[in-house]
Amino acid sequence: MSRFFNNLKLVNKVLLMVGLLGSLSVLITVFALLNMRAIDRSYRDLLAVDVQAAILIDGALLEMNEASRLVFAVLTEQEEAHMRAVGRDIASAQERFRQALDRLAPLLRGQQGALDDVRAREAAVAAHSAQIVEAAARWRGDRALHIIHDQLQPELKALRRGMDGLRDVSVANYQAVAAELAAQTQRTTVQTALAFGLAVTFVILLSAWLSIHEVSRPINALAAAMRRLANKDYESQIEGVHRRDEVGQMAQAMDYFREKMIEADRLQQEVLRDPLTGIANRRAFDQALERAWHALQASQRPLSLLFMDIDHFKPFNDHYGHGEGDRCLTRIASALHGCTHRPGDLVARYGGEEFVAILPDTDAQGALGVAQACHAATAVQAIPHGHSGVSGWVTLSIGVATMVPRQDSTPQALLQAADAMLYAAKAAGRNTTRATTVAPNAME
Ligand code: GH3
Ligand code: MG
Ligand code: MG
Repeated sequence: MSRFFNNLKLVNKVLLMVGLLGSLSVLITVFALLNMRAIDRSYRDLLAVDVQAAILIDGALLEMNEASRLVFAVLTEQEEAHMRAVGRDIASAQERFRQALDRLAPLLRGQQGALDDVRAREAAVAAHSAQIVEAAARWRGDRALHIIHDQLQPELKALRRGMDGLRDVSVANYQAVAAELAAQTQRTTVQTALAFGLAVTFVILLSAWLSIHEVSRPINALAAAMRRLANKDYESQIEGVHRRDEVGQMAQAMDYFREKMIEADRLQQEVLRDPLTGIANRRAFDQALERAWHALQASQRPLSLLFMDIDHFKPFNDHYGHGEGDRCLTRIASALHGCTHRPGDLVARYGGEEFVAILPDTDAQGALGVAQACHAATAVQAIPHGHSGVSGWVTLSIGVATMVPRQDSTPQALLQAADAMLYAAKAAGRNTTRATTVAPNAME
């Protein structure tokens, strides 16, 4: 999961979140629409069945009232033919009533018993109505009234009760279903709102997690790595180079930068090293002398310089060859390198068969000690030199100069003083040291 996000570009991460939110919205909308459609269908059923039933019952009741009104109208007629005509009207109103019952039958679920009872009573009412018309037509008004009172009216009352019962059940059914549908509508609304809320919260939390875990933290780690690189700490690895998103690209760029810095540092070291002997070269010496000069100028501590030159090296080369001369230079260089021990000390090849040593915070006595060590280290090498005239082995002459760096003086003055001492050592017969302490006002 995390690996999948690692390899996703920032814009794709955003698109994914937007897509996720969109898909969840579509799902929730579809869910809400399906629910609302089901509710809508139930409402239509309700209108088609229970409301229709109530309307039909009311229509049937009207026909029934019309029929019973006509039954009384028969008694007020003066001619038999008129009475029989009203009788036919009564029969057709009753027929319409029966037709209404037929249409009602499929709409009344679970009320067939009550409907059958209504049909039986209607049949009785029809029979009584026919008897009443017949009695009236034979001028037997007393008998007609008798049937009305004793038989028709109780039967009509029962029929009306039956019809009222049917309507009450339909209305109650309508109310129950309508209430359930209203509750269902409300439930769907609440569920949809909740689902939207949850989806939005989920996507926001996921986005926050993504931006903290997948973007912010790796970028902070890269910033820390950059600070380490600035301090030339090349050891710690750059995290995230295998990712394929923008963070991965930044990490790869930083890793490339780290390699370049390592390479640049290596080249810089190379520039400061003498290729033949492997010790510091003239350029490194110049920089170190400048640095030491300024540091000791601030603290007013002494700086000593050794200028060393191999005695009669030209005849060495002439007799043993240049290859042997180079090997001699290399051995002497590493022997001299081993004579200094302090972190600030530096031994460099000044050029040809000349070497220098910078000894910061070292007085004349200390510098003489190092010069002695250099003579001894050269002697230990015991490089044969049959044409020296000084000794049977390779020897050095050393000039030492010491001074406390001052504003009105320069490192070159110290170098010249050491060079002058080297000349004095050569003049004194070589394989020896001459030293001087440059007085504060020596340059004036
Ligand atoms: P002195 O005791 O007065 O210093 O005598 P010297 O012969 O050493 O004097 P000089 O400075 O005139 O000679 C330096 C010689 O060192 C010249 C050259 O033959 C030799 N030389 C300088 N650089 C190199 C080098 O890199 N390799 C070799 N093999 N010889 C070098
Ligand atoms: Mg020389
Ligand atoms: Mg020499």
